[in-house]
Amino acid sequence: MRDLNELVRANIKELEPYSSARNEYKAQALAFLDANENPYNSPYNRYPDPLQGKLKEKLAVLKGVGSSCIFLGNGSDEAIDLVFRIFCEPKVDNVVAIDPTYGMYEVCASVNDVEYRKVRLDDAFQFKAEDVLYASDRHTKVAFLCSPNNPTGNNLSSSEIKELLERFDGMVVLDEAYADFSSSASFLPCLSRYPNLVILQTFSKAWGCAGMRLGVAFASPSVIAYFNKVKYPYNVNALTQEKALEMLEDVGKVDEWVDILLRERERLMQRFAQLACCVKVYPTDANFFLAKVQDAGRVYNHLACNGVIVRNRSKVALCGECLRITVGTPVENDLLIKVLKNYV
Ligand SMILES: *Cc1c(COP(=O)(O)O)cnc(C)c1O
Repeated sequence: MRDLNELVRANIKELEPYSSARNEYKAQALAFLDANENPYNSPYNRYPDPLQGKLKEKLAVLKGVGSSCIFLGNGSDEAIDLVFRIFCEPKVDNVVAIDPTYGMYEVCASVNDVEYRKVRLDDAFQFKAEDVLYASDRHTKVAFLCSPNNPTGNNLSSSEIKELLERFDGMVVLDEAYADFSSSASFLPCLSRYPNLVILQTFSKAWGCAGMRLGVAFASPSVIAYFNKVKYPYNVNALTQEKALEMLEDVGKVDEWVDILLRERERLMQRFAQLACCVKVYPTDANFFLAKVQDAGRVYNHLACNGVIVRNRSKVALCGECLRITVGTPVENDLLIKVLKNYV
């Protein structure tokens, strides 16, 4: 890896971050008259903790990493955008990403006017570290990987991920949004071994909190310090911090949901594979699966007309005539199958 100071944009290195009232004075007091807050309507009259100390402490224990290795944001999408703003000089630098993958990397690249280079996955939806390295040059600051990948559902080869981490001299963002559903281990225990690794996780999937908007980035403390420098001062609101702390009191519930969803995933995939319209069901390590069908547009419309909404991924690379189907409750999954049995 190149020195972090060489990877970070010059303006970000020199940036004097905004210092909020809550940043400057954190201790107990008799009267907080420093932030122009309304003294009424407690506790929501107060600005939230800008660095979410309590929440990070709990999450650090659960995940087995130090608090200083954690960034919390308004969804993973905030962390993705910050990666561009910290590392990529508009019109000069570029990033490389596997293709197909999660659409937000490319959107964030466009918004930040950063060239986005795609490395096509093979027929088994796998990538080679060599191909990512071949696509990169001295202006490539970041490589984006997603495992389990969206929309394909599969895990990327962990030996190729390791090889990329060892040979690529920029940052590697590994999006693990679906890690809780995966049979492969998270890369989190490897965090301290790779100073160029940024792991993304989220409360939006297994944790059942997509509406809350809470994303997590894990990285070395010096990378996390740059995230904190560039983020909005109060990027995670008080209601989200409060609810997330409550969720962390009952991790067992999340494990139960995951167990149910994994069992339902197997049942749903088996039944889907037997449908007349089904060409192929792809293996998955996430809470969704990709299925090739005869005439995806027509199957999609039939489902939608009957109140069942899935994602048509036909226009995505390697996903011709494919639908992406999220595993729902047993009742919802039965409805999907019933509606498709009536499809002719
Ligand atoms: C759903 C998803 C996310 C979650 O994004 P949030 O902003 O945290 O809701 C992140 N990455 C991938 C690949 C996803 O599919």
